[in-house]
Amino acid sequence: EKEELKQLVNDKTTSKDGIHVELAANIGTPNDLEGVINNGAEGIGLYRTEFLYMGRDSMPTEDEQYEAYKRVLSEMKGKRVVVRTLDIGGDKELPYLNLPHEMNPFLGYRAIRLCLDQQDIFRTQLRALLRASAHGSLSIMFPMIATINEFREAKAILEEEKAKLKDEKIKVADDIELGIMVEIPSTAAMADIFAKEVDFFSIGTNDLIQYTMAADRMSERVSYLYQPYNPAILRLVKQVIDASHQEGKWTGMCGEMAGDTTAIPLLLGLGLDEFSMSATSILKARRQIKNLSQTEMKKLAEQALNCATQEEVVELVNRV
Ligand code: PEP
Ligand code: MG
Repeated sequence: EKEELKQLVNDKTTSKDGIHVELAANIGTPNDLEGVINNGAEGIGLYRTEFLYMGRDSMPTEDEQYEAYKRVLSEMKGKRVVVRTLDIGGDKELPYLNLPHEMNPFLGYRAIRLCLDQQDIFRTQLRALLRASAHGSLSIMFPMIATINEFREAKAILEEEKAKLKDEKIKVADDIELGIMVEIPSTAAMADIFAKEVDFFSIGTNDLIQYTMAADRMSERVSYLYQPYNPAILRLVKQVIDASHQEGKWTGMCGEMAGDTTAIPLLLGLGLDEFSMSATSILKARRQIKNLSQTEMKKLAEQALNCATQEEVVELVNRV
């Protein structure tokens, strides 16, 4: 089986009826790149930059960050690299930041909320990213966006830093795509409005499921409610994809669901453009998609959207 999968390393990912989708990898550090390249990823769909900040006792400097981003961009040789700005807080802590203790850290001071509040941290990261943009194909996305104002404010800060660098005669790419993670239900509900202002969406199902079902992703006791295939989740995913296509934009998914063999037929049918997953899942997903017809999966997805329960959806998919 390994040999058979290996043959797919340099293939594009195309469904039986000729629809191309992009299979990208999630990474945490530049050291993950070897696995990414060996498994034939068509790009990086999520670079979680938190790890640069973790396991040390002070902030990484602009130059340290620049070196890491530059390495990822140049090793990917022009393939798209989606870098997510700092998503700290929630389950990920940074001792040297002295974050407040909160009753519900997943609903608290984290990610873009913290970055818009402590702008020195945010601006340093953005400068490092902008400088690195000259070395490859960079897309930037903001995590945990709940309102359009957060996106506008983050974008304005990015534009300010870009202008400063240009004044300093530092080279910055002029085609950087700017997107958001859709992982909060309010943003999925407003996807049509967001789609007019962002370049792309990446659906973060790990969080979107917990916030939609009000079921903590870390809690064993309520894990039965953490339902990726619940029609409620599929409807939100559809709404986001449709809204992006309406404006000529694209939608990816970088939560665990994107690499899940039960979810893949449904996501293909819903029109997802990019699937980002752990590198080790890519070849299997590619083989699976090559054997599916998007036209047929579209019908499957339509049925799934009208199911009453997650169990019914799983039964449907298992019949494929
Ligand atoms: C997600 O929420 O789906 C996601 C990809 O982000 P993280 O798992 O890092 O919260
Ligand atoms: Mg998340």
